[in-house]
Amino acid sequence: MIRIAAEEAWAPKEILERYRKLLQEKPESWDPGFRSLWGFFLGPTERATALVRRIQDLGPQRLADMDATGIAKQLILLSSPGVQVFEATEAVALARDMNDQLIAHLSDRYAGLAAIAPHAPRDAVKELQRAVGLGLKGAVVNSHTQGAYLDDPKCWEIFEAAQALDVPIYIHPNTPPREMIAPFLPRGLDGAIYGFAVETGLHLLRIIVAGVFDRFPKLRIVVGHLGEGLPFWLFRLDFMHASMVRAQRYPGVKPLEMKVSDYFKRNIWVTTSGMQWAPAIQFCISVLGIERVMYAMDYPYQFVPDEVKVTDEMPMSDADRKKLYQDNIESVFRLR
Ligand code: CA
Repeated sequence: MIRIAAEEAWAPKEILERYRKLLQEKPESWDPGFRSLWGFFLGPTERATALVRRIQDLGPQRLADMDATGIAKQLILLSSPGVQVFEATEAVALARDMNDQLIAHLSDRYAGLAAIAPHAPRDAVKELQRAVGLGLKGAVVNSHTQGAYLDDPKCWEIFEAAQALDVPIYIHPNTPPREMIAPFLPRGLDGAIYGFAVETGLHLLRIIVAGVFDRFPKLRIVVGHLGEGLPFWLFRLDFMHASMVRAQRYPGVKPLEMKVSDYFKRNIWVTTSGMQWAPAIQFCISVLGIERVMYAMDYPYQFVPDEVKVTDEMPMSDADRKKLYQDNIESVFRLR
């Protein structure tokens, strides 16, 4: 068995410089979540400095950290918000550049997902096709793009392309958009502590309820942080969705071919990123099945070497542990 980590972040110098420029040029009100996140991580604190040093590296530092924690391979994702914070033309060009840089680093230690610009769907499809042809294993979408969500039918050609290419889309968190973030900010709840999960969970639910998986039944979507809390909600989601459909309460809520929870067992996989807590991992395995849950560290944001022990020591068969660390990831991302 080898340990593969399925949601590991990377952000090269060029994109961090563009983030710095946005922070300087844009007003506070433009994207308070972006300012909260990158205003902090591009700032002077010890945590920020260590993060920025590690996140740029696809060389000796990262490999040493992987060796120290027994991680054989990382699946690399362009860190949030990636290219999606830039206007479409810039985002399209930047995605291509970021993907080329990542492709140049692919090895037996690194696999990667393609950055795409969902606000230019046709270009996103072309870039996904190009990048997969050059060895990337799917796409990462850092949740909303300036307040827009993938359940908008104009984005469905991205799902169509992913299904046709037989690659998954990883929906990774972003800070809540301007329209959503105000009540999170005063108590510091906008980021990884809670806001990420609320916003990304909402994104995935929008995709399910919109009927995306009825249209694309073989589409594979991966989410981190143990499904952003949604596995815990499946009973209520099924009950309330069925009730809303019966009542015809919302024009945007149509009957689905399956229950909400059924899509979690056919189209959705979750990773353990940032959630190294045995009871929560075991709960997800019990409701979704061992084949649906994959290990991720969330390096370098949550680089806590001791946390690997949680998965190493969880009471489960060696065969199931191998599924969690290796088999499921190799299978979902077609790593072999
Ligand atoms: Ca992450």
